[in-house]
Amino acid sequence: DTTLDIAAIRADFPILSRTVYDRPLVYFDNAATSQKPRCVVEAIEKVYYNQNANIHRGVHYLSQVATEAHEEARQTVQAFINAAESREIIFTRGTTEAINLIATSFGETFCNEGDEILITGMEHHANIVPWQLLRDRKGIVLKVVPFNERGELDMEAFSKLLSPKTKLVSVAHISNVMGTVNPVAKIIAEAHAHNIPVLVDGAQAVSHMPVDVQALDADFYVFSGHKMYGPNGIGVLYGKEKWLEQLPPYHGGGEMIATVTYEKTTYAELPFKFEAGTPDYVGSVALGEAIRYMQKFGLKAIGDYEHQLLQYATEQLMKIDGMRIFGTAAEKASVISFLVRDIHHFDMGTLLDKLGIAVRTGHHCAMPLMHTLGIEGTIRASFAFYNTKEEIDALVAAVDRVQKMF
Ligand code: PMP
Repeated sequence: DTTLDIAAIRADFPILSRTVYDRPLVYFDNAATSQKPRCVVEAIEKVYYNQNANIHRGVHYLSQVATEAHEEARQTVQAFINAAESREIIFTRGTTEAINLIATSFGETFCNEGDEILITGMEHHANIVPWQLLRDRKGIVLKVVPFNERGELDMEAFSKLLSPKTKLVSVAHISNVMGTVNPVAKIIAEAHAHNIPVLVDGAQAVSHMPVDVQALDADFYVFSGHKMYGPNGIGVLYGKEKWLEQLPPYHGGGEMIATVTYEKTTYAELPFKFEAGTPDYVGSVALGEAIRYMQKFGLKAIGDYEHQLLQYATEQLMKIDGMRIFGTAAEKASVISFLVRDIHHFDMGTLLDKLGIAVRTGHHCAMPLMHTLGIEGTIRASFAFYNTKEEIDALVAAVDRVQKMF
């Protein structure tokens, strides 16, 4: 029951019609990276074949065309997350680089020994390790908000962990392991009541739900192109202008300067201050195309359909003997992590692969979360809006077949 024409959507993704081991590919590793529609790949081709030139500095025609396309892509991103200004959109290599940028530029400016950064117990390593690096440099303290047995953040603990020493809260919008949709608007409102800014890791959110950074009042919001039908190697840091203006550059080089002498360098305006070196003007254009592709259907319709897949998959998987699903939050999106009895996740994943089903196994770059759950890893099936109920039936039949082998 969806208004989306899933067959037509699937036809936009050539890879979905290939086989693996002579079986139709069932791709359920979308949380790791999504597949790409033809229009995104064609956008890359078009830049290289028709308008390739280094941007921002050229007087010549091609450079101007390439510059316009890159800056137009920035505006597409701005509109996509409803940022107030396009200069609040910084292109990065991905979520990881965006968080490292903030941990470095914000951390060096605003954090001193004993200050606290508050994260949660369900963060990806990308939202843990940069803060540990800052801890090693600055002697800050990393505090962690726990979650309950359903995989929902303990909001009372969150309130108690906010302290006069808290300099920043950094939280995943959606957990890449449990699928929990965290109450980020509430978290931001409460942090702001204490004048504490909030970074939201939206890597798993932007392709599954409409995101409005102004409605959320997020100070920083970060995501990766490759998880939202766009190309790999480009991502976005959104930051409120009032913060970005106060932060020093992260990388130095060309593009990010106003004037350079051996004695003193002055920096370019936003967003260029944070974009040292030749930007990925191919990736940006392709990312803009990916956004337009999603917007053709609407993030609400995409999210609603994926929710049907999630519910159906949950119901069907739960019929399997010994099934354990990790993460049963009331607000959940697109990800199911599971184990069957004591069957090792790697064995299950390998056998599913032989049946043509691509899932992720292991710790999903969230080892501390696995530690809290008391397990080493899970099997993770994650959905995109090109997936179907029939594919879920194939997954469930395959999991059942594999578990009977043990
Ligand atoms: N945060 C979350 C929640 C993620 O799911 C991921 C990707 N698995 C990342 C951060 C890191 O993204 P990237 O590797 O694209 O930088």
